[in-house]
Amino acid sequence: MPSHPARPCVVCGRLATGGRCPAHPYRKPGPRDYPDERARRLILEQWRDQVGNICAGIPDRDHPPHPTPDLTVHHLNPRAHGGTLQDGWTVICRSLNAQLGTGHTPGDTPGG
Ligand SMILES: [Zn+2]
Ligand SMILES: [Zn+2]
Repeated sequence: MPSHPARPCVVCGRLATGGRCPAHPYRKPGPRDYPDERARRLILEQWRDQVGNICAGIPDRDHPPHPTPDLTVHHLNPRAHGGTLQDGWTVICRSLNAQLGTGHTPGDTPGG
């Protein structure tokens, strides 16, 4: 009797029709699966569209907004705290982002 040829599931190797068993169906990548890099690029595109080549600045860091083409996306809510890139970010210049990445606090001067 003609039927779909059974092939091993590409994930677990069990025989299945269509190359995948019911336990491992093909899953289309959704927005949540996009790597951060793609999300960052979209954010930067929108930012340049709506705001322009402007570093948003961070007043706490004595860093007011200024024009620059060297922009990068900075997380305000790290994922460790349950945040996502989409719900907590700002667009700042690369040098400011590098400063923030060190975790160094400028007010922490020795002999204060
Ligand atoms: Zn399988
Ligand atoms: Zn800046």
